Amino acid sequence: MPPPVFRFAPSPNGLLHLGHARSALLNYDAARRSRGRFLLRIEDIDATRCRSQFEAAIYEDLGWLGITWETPVRRQSDHLADYRAALDRLAALGLLYPSFESRAEIAALVKAREAEGIWLRDPDGAPLYPGAAKSLPASERQRRLRSGAPFALRLDMDAACRLAGNLTWTEQGSGPGGETGEVVARPEAWGDVILARKDTPTSYHLSVVVDDALQGVTNVVRGQDLFWSTAVHRLLQALLDLPRPVYRHHDLIRDGAGKKLSKSSAATGLRELRLRGMSAGEVRRLIGLP
Ligand code: GLU
Repeated sequence: MPPPVFRFAPSPNGLLHLGHARSALLNYDAARRSRGRFLLRIEDIDATRCRSQFEAAIYEDLGWLGITWETPVRRQSDHLADYRAALDRLAALGLLYPSFESRAEIAALVKAREAEGIWLRDPDGAPLYPGAAKSLPASERQRRLRSGAPFALRLDMDAACRLAGNLTWTEQGSGPGGETGEVVARPEAWGDVILARKDTPTSYHLSVVVDDALQGVTNVVRGQDLFWSTAVHRLLQALLDLPRPVYRHHDLIRDGAGKKLSKSSAATGLRELRLRGMSAGEVRRLIGLP
């Protein structure tokens, strides 16, 4: 049996906090316990928010925690061709279409739908795509693409679900409602998700699935905030013929008000704690790890 492969995949769009330490250490400890491999991946496809100084801080903070990782580290922005190839496969299956509305136009459409009745929201609370781009005549689609208009490439969720059939994933942790074991994937709850944009040939969902497969990741250990996204990941794995890792979603560390920690709150930032003289062992105890 090849060794299991774990990964920690932060986005360099802010400083790491205790929640990241928990995810990173859970992965690292599990890899060590199982004589597996531990990979670090930098998820930096959002060029507007990611910064090289945050990437440097990730290496510094993880090193301080006593974590070591294989090199070279995979940085997503270096691998856009891999995501483009996956998009091409989905396009060849007839599962993608461009939509051209601006954010403001989408917000207005949602408002109009909501005035007529309930308009569904995805598991993160964002309204499902309300537009009609899927039924634009091909000639009009081509005209807009040729005009250089910005667009988002969306997955035709109905068609994708029909093609993939029923899917489940193996959950070794639990979801927000205690879901565990073989969990039924309901990707349709996300509507026609965006998989790429004109200027960024990928998205979180697409790159995470492609990378986990290319890097041979067998065990995905991450925060419960990504639990429901796993349905989209399973769908993309099925459509792209990729192996399925097992998943373990862990509970999140919350602040005093019960809210998920944010990268901007200094109080729980790893750099801040280090500068205040805390040791890596104390961080472990603070987040309930041996
Ligand atoms: N890059 C994601 C984040 O920082 C995590 C992706 C994952 O673990 O699947 O929230």
